[in-house]
Amino acid sequence: MPVRLVVLKCPKCGHTIEDKTSSMLFWCNDCSTLHTRDEHGIHIMHYEIAPIMKAYGALTPFYMPFWKILVDVRIFGEKNVGAFLHTLFSGDQKMEGTFYMYMPAVDFPNPNHWKDWAYALTMSPPKFPSRKDFGGFARMCANIDLYDAQKLADFLVLNFEAEKPGTLQSIAYTLQVKDIDVVFIPFIDTGGGNLAPLI
Ligand SMILES: [Zn+2]
Repeated sequence: MPVRLVVLKCPKCGHTIEDKTSSMLFWCNDCSTLHTRDEHGIHIMHYEIAPIMKAYGALTPFYMPFWKILVDVRIFGEKNVGAFLHTLFSGDQKMEGTFYMYMPAVDFPNPNHWKDWAYALTMSPPKFPSRKDFGGFARMCANIDLYDAQKLADFLVLNFEAEKPGTLQSIAYTLQVKDIDVVFIPFIDTGGGNLAPLI
């Protein structure tokens, strides 16, 4: 894919942002504002940047952006609902709950890898004191936009629930997106596209 140089202004301070990655998330070096823009307008995003907490030897860390989506799920018809939602609801009998769903804002060549990282972080959300910057490390190009992320949240809930073997027979639920933030997690590529988080 040819690299496009995007030049735009920070919506907060007016500083020029140059982005060579064609990312959908734009970072202002001057005032640390993160924003995304689409046909609906400009959205300044709340974000967290995880510190690097593991050794990485001679490899070069990079940051992967995740959408962190606060979802409210209500089940109103089910037969043997699986472990996914009930784990997140923290109770077997609960029929509704609010939780954070994590989803890479990066489209992986293998969609299963994308799904696996979404599952891993949703089931055990990372906890860390946020950094103020990326420490000079690169960011992966975000290419799943804010609106696709909200639609994909629905897809993932159903997918995760259905993949628990031998439990789910049918389910009817509503999913409402309450809030959406960005979380940057440091990774290294340990070879052959195998990614390892540094938190
Ligand atoms: Zn700025």
